This record gives sequence, C-alpha cells and structure tokens, in this order.
Amino acid sequence: MADRGRRGTGTNQEAVRRHNLATLLGHVHRSGGVSRAQLTERMGLNRSTIADLVRELEDLSAVRQSTPEAGANPRAGAGRPSIDVNPDPEVVFVIAAELGVDTMDVARVGLGGLPLDRMSTATPKDPDPELLLDTLAELVRTMLKTADEGSRLVGIGIAVPGVVTDQSGLVRFAPNLGWTDVPLSSMLAARFGRRVPVHLGNDAELGALSEHTRGAGRHKSDLIYISCDVGVGGGVIVGGVPMMGASGYAGEIGHQPFNPRGHTCRCGNIGCWEVEIGSHAVAAAVGCPPEEIHRLVDYLQPGPGVPQELRRLGRSLGLGLGGLVNVFNPEMVILGGVLRWVFPLVRDDVLEALDEWALKAPAEQAQIVLPWLGGDSVIIGAAELAFTDVLEDPVDTLQRAKGAISAILG
Ligand SMILES: [Zn+2]
Repeated sequence: MADRGRRGTGTNQEAVRRHNLATLLGHVHRSGGVSRAQLTERMGLNRSTIADLVRELEDLSAVRQSTPEAGANPRAGAGRPSIDVNPDPEVVFVIAAELGVDTMDVARVGLGGLPLDRMSTATPKDPDPELLLDTLAELVRTMLKTADEGSRLVGIGIAVPGVVTDQSGLVRFAPNLGWTDVPLSSMLAARFGRRVPVHLGNDAELGALSEHTRGAGRHKSDLIYISCDVGVGGGVIVGGVPMMGASGYAGEIGHQPFNPRGHTCRCGNIGCWEVEIGSHAVAAAVGCPPEEIHRLVDYLQPGPGVPQELRRLGRSLGLGLGGLVNVFNPEMVILGGVLRWVFPLVRDDVLEALDEWALKAPAEQAQIVLPWLGGDSVIIGAAELAFTDVLEDPVDTLQRAKGAISAILG
C-alpha cells in the first residue's frame, strides 16, 4: 500500500494516506521512539512523505519530534542528524484492566507501551458482574482524574480469566469468577458510553501478546504463555499468529485431563491440570493457609530445603508442559502468574518430568522461561489490545476520543 510519493486521486489517495499514518504510528508505538530516517527505510516512502505524515500525527498530538544533540544519534548515519519521532504517552493513552480472582488491577498505559499509573483493589467476592464492574468503573474514574487536561483516552482493554471473544464482547465462561455468558462490553458501555472502544481478551492470550510484542518472545514465532492463578490458561502463538480456535476459545490448557483421581475442578470435571498446579494447589504444597493466599509469594522465597509437596507439584507442572511441547512444538514456553515463583524453586523437577514426557525432537528446542514483563505481562497485553483502534485508524479514533474523559467523569 506504500504510495512512494506518487500522486493518487480522490478517496484512493486518502485511503493510502490513512493507511500510512496508521503504519507509521504503529512503528513509533512498538519501538517507543524511532528516527525519521529509520521510518523512511522501514516504510519504503520518501523523506518528504514521511515528514508530512509525522507532521500530521504531531498536529493530532500523537507524536513529538525532537532533534538529537550532535553526535548523540548513531541511528542517523552520515550527514545531518535525523529527527527523532517519539510517542506522546501522557497525551494518548489507554486504560487496561486485569480482572483477577482475588485482585483487580487497573493501569493507565501511554502510547509506546509506557505504564503511567496503576491501581489495585480486592475483587468483590460476590459473583454478580454488576458489582465487580461498579468497582472497576470507580477505579477507572479515580485514575482518569489524574490524566492531563486535553489528553485522549483511545481505548479500554480488559483481561478476563476465562473464555471470551472480543468480537461478541461476551464472557462465555469464567468459572473462577462464577460467570457464564456475561455481556461485559455492553455493561461497560452502560457505564462509560460508547465513545471509547472496549476490547476483551483472555488473560493468557494477552500475556502471550505482550511477551511476543515486547518481552521474552520478541523474536519467536511459536510460543506458549501460561497464566497461573486459581485457574491456569494458555496463550498460544503459532507461526507468529495467535491461535484462536474455530470460535476464539482455544488455549484452555488448564482444563486438560490430568489426574482422574484428583479433586473436582471449578469447571465441573475431576482432576483438571489447573487443580494440580494452580495457586490453591501451590498454597497447599507450601503450607500457606487459604486466608493468607494474597501473600502466597512470601511462602515461595528461596531458602534451605524445598517442601516435597512443592517438588511433586513441580513434577505435575513438568509432565503437563511435556504434553504441550508434544502438541505445539513451541520454541518457548513462558511461565506467568504464580509459576514465576514456583519454577525457580523446583526447576530441576519440572525439567526432568518434561524430558520424561515430551518426545525428544520437540523437547530439544523448547526453552522454559519466565516473562520479561514480570507481573505486568497480562495488563500490558490488555493495553496492547486497547490500542487496536488508534493503530488502525489514528485520525478517526483520536477525533472520537475528544471529550471522552469528561463524558466518563460526568
Ligand atoms: Zn477444569
């Protein structure tokens, strides 16, 4: 679609220009700042076209230009220094939320992926979604009050621990929240209006998205991100593309059959993998009482001796990973959630069990790693999802976002 500076006519020319604006903003967002010379090279457009596009995004307050000091910009190459194009995170931002079973996190994330502000509260124990969304809406309003005047909220992204599709805006099944068929997008629109687009995603899928875009899996095309709280989910990227399944529900790896003699899962089946390795199983293995589960991490600090129960759990983790490695042949499996603390303690048990179960060929290249984005993978993934509209059509989305914050604050 690059126009290479040629003159088009009418709507066609306008469509090309909008496409190029979107592509350019995508480069700036993903790199967090890029020189005009690099944009010229990456987009295959001439310098004056790039300069015009940048100026238009600058007029929309989406980017800023700056001239680096002499000698400070090795990217510019020979000749005059190239001008840097940076995102304006305080001006264009999204709200991302992670609905956990125990806690609910909300973040304001600026263009370029920069977290600006973060708040957290206990998730209401009542399964009534209206109650949870009231709490969420209150957090969002408090956060929006700190945003600069004139800044633009361009999207809201919500990570849900369950089976969701963004197209329908429906949470089909979130057993650990006690939800079935909850029309989350329209319920949020009732609170925030329809000026700001709302997107929903499965928590593990969003963890996979952010780690693939900005984290441990940046240069990998086949990876699995595992989210692990009370429930266990999987975000699978195959050939560089998220694997969604026929109706968008793929990746529910926590409900693989694992132990037919085990406990009943919240989904109704007996012995799902998540019952064996989820946070409740981890708590039981390290002697953390249920009322202390919010500080489970304190029980998972390195020290002399690892409880046998935790080593057994490590084996269950490794065997399940072996199965996933056999099915998906990933280059990398990223262990998120509570597994970030479990894995370093029982690494040998996990890898030994994995090697036992996985076939030799796919096991050879499967790296088992921790997320680079730490505890932020899922919420940064929700933010990436919330940026969808502005990265597809910056002009329309930024215009629509005018006044959206004051409309939400009422
Ligand atoms: Zn289950």
